[in-house]
Amino acid sequence: MKTQSDLRAHLRAIDHRSYPAYKELRGSYDFGGFLLQIDHVQGDPFAAPSAVSVTVPAAQAAFPSAFLSPGHRRTALEDHLVRLFSREAEKYSGKARGSGKSGRMEVSRPGQEVLARSACTVSERGDVVFRMEIGFPANGRTINARELEKILFEFLPACVRAALYYRSVDRKQLKAGIDLSDDQLFIRQELGKRGLCAFVADGAVLPRESGVSDLPMRGAVPFYSPESLRVEMDLPHAGRVTGMGIKRGITLIAGGGYHGKSTLLHALERGVYDHIAGDGREYVIADNTAVKIRAEDGRSIVCDDISLFISNLPGGKDTVRFSTENASGSTSQAAAVVEAAEAGCRVLLIDEDTSATNFMVRDELMQRVIAPDKEPITPFISRARLLFEKNGISTILALGSSGAWFTPADCILQMDEYRPVDITEKAKEAAKAFSPSKEAAGEVSAGTSSAGGIFAGGSSAGEKSAGTPSAGEGPAGSAGNRTAAAAFLDPGPGLPAPRRILLPDRAFSGDRIKTKTMGRDGFVIDRRTVDLRHVEQLADSEQSAALAQCLLYAERRLMDGKRTLPEIADALLALIEARGPGAVAEGSYVRTGLAAPRKAEICAMLSRFRGLRVR
Ligand code: ADP
Ligand code: MG
Repeated sequence: MKTQSDLRAHLRAIDHRSYPAYKELRGSYDFGGFLLQIDHVQGDPFAAPSAVSVTVPAAQAAFPSAFLSPGHRRTALEDHLVRLFSREAEKYSGKARGSGKSGRMEVSRPGQEVLARSACTVSERGDVVFRMEIGFPANGRTINARELEKILFEFLPACVRAALYYRSVDRKQLKAGIDLSDDQLFIRQELGKRGLCAFVADGAVLPRESGVSDLPMRGAVPFYSPESLRVEMDLPHAGRVTGMGIKRGITLIAGGGYHGKSTLLHALERGVYDHIAGDGREYVIADNTAVKIRAEDGRSIVCDDISLFISNLPGGKDTVRFSTENASGSTSQAAAVVEAAEAGCRVLLIDEDTSATNFMVRDELMQRVIAPDKEPITPFISRARLLFEKNGISTILALGSSGAWFTPADCILQMDEYRPVDITEKAKEAAKAFSPSKEAAGEVSAGTSSAGGIFAGGSSAGEKSAGTPSAGEGPAGSAGNRTAAAAFLDPGPGLPAPRRILLPDRAFSGDRIKTKTMGRDGFVIDRRTVDLRHVEQLADSEQSAALAQCLLYAERRLMDGKRTLPEIADALLALIEARGPGAVAEGSYVRTGLAAPRKAEICAMLSRFRGLRVR
């Protein structure tokens, strides 16, 4: 093993030589309290910075063993260390200079969500590995080794000392972070036990500072649950919390414009992740399979069975194996529902603001004028009930435009000046008064006849059938509501089981594959773009970077003509869970700057890949 003095001597020897001499530094050096490893050296000062990692052995890092078992606590510990390290590293940014990326210390900077990151992995024994990128300094293309010496012998050790030893971190703060993660996991587990889709604590701060800042809004109206939906939980550390429990079934977030509908929905979207202390959404927890779906015209779709929503397309186009390079608003949203189900989603989150109107509802007058055989779409309103009863998929929907939804909904909230009010009964009564004949008869119009015709879909609406929800998973509504709601249950079998089996796409076979991440919005591999702008629950650009690596990995080893798309996502997740997000970039030095995506986002990425080939 080489030592730090060896490194210093070597640095002095290569000073003023031409840039490629830096390559000789690759290797491991014992720095006493930690091991420094130079994993990859950039080719020139303008290239992507060099990859450097630090390993602090368990004996010296000395974090308590209670924090180390795999799972949420260890992720919270790792997240905490990344934040400490990056805060420290910021003090030194720009202090070493030179041309190009000289002197840059690039350390992951987490946002409000707690995510597993390749930047820091702690093993079960307690060894801490921290990865970052450093721009090796140069003047022109001449090595400036004195500057690198400053970084490696002063700045870096200072960051390591401040962040990666238990003896030097603020223990109370670290413990608070771990305790919070315990409490968040507890709430997540309670959701399942209590038949809830989501929990929003009283006092939570949902709105953000601005459209470009994820920090909490100052002076916001705190969240306050309606009495009828209030639940209590006894958290292991924080004790009793109260808040709104959204039950499984169909929930509407209604209300006037600008009253906070989208803000609540957005908080639920992000509730699939844990948030740091001080965020305001610490106890806003949603079922972690929840998927926000929306219209996304222009996207590609490969072999989705969207026939539950769309049939009889012009020209007899197949909707059982539906493919297009350029989806419409409604077909893209239908595909999003089907793909979410394929990924194992239990809750759909939908905002009217980003939906295709004709996918969501169709009013009666339109049905009178446009003959049923000229309308390929059975709107989502006619299928939401079926999705819940047959596929166990709940829907939470923010909307202000169509009262037609009052009938199939189990729970109706009105956002009133940022406060939710339970208007379920009032809205149900109004809906009855609006179409008394239909409710009395308990029947649904088959298209164009009665006032209730607004809800009817293509051909099969009209059969009244009481679904058989699985035990403990019934919707929240009263018995009366169940009857009315049953009118929305089509006799059909629900969504088909996933069956898209992926074939290899041999496009990425060269040795030098260029990958470029476009922030949170997507990535390009060898000039092929995967657009993730409308995959709204991607919270971090490091998740998109990881998705790019997931695609490469899947393409090389998992798309084999045998595995289905969700099985491929499961295999990638298993790898990430076992060895951290860097595991999907194995064999490559691109192991910094990756954060764990969810299964839903891996599936969403694969589905949007234009090279996707399905058997
Ligand atoms: P809607 O979807 O009902 O039209 P939004 O959720 O978009 O309304 O909210 C409208 C505005 O109100 C946004 O600028 C949002 O940041 C702000 N807002 C939302 N919730 C709160 C709150 N609890 N306190 C203060 N402002 C809020
Ligand atoms: Mg809105």
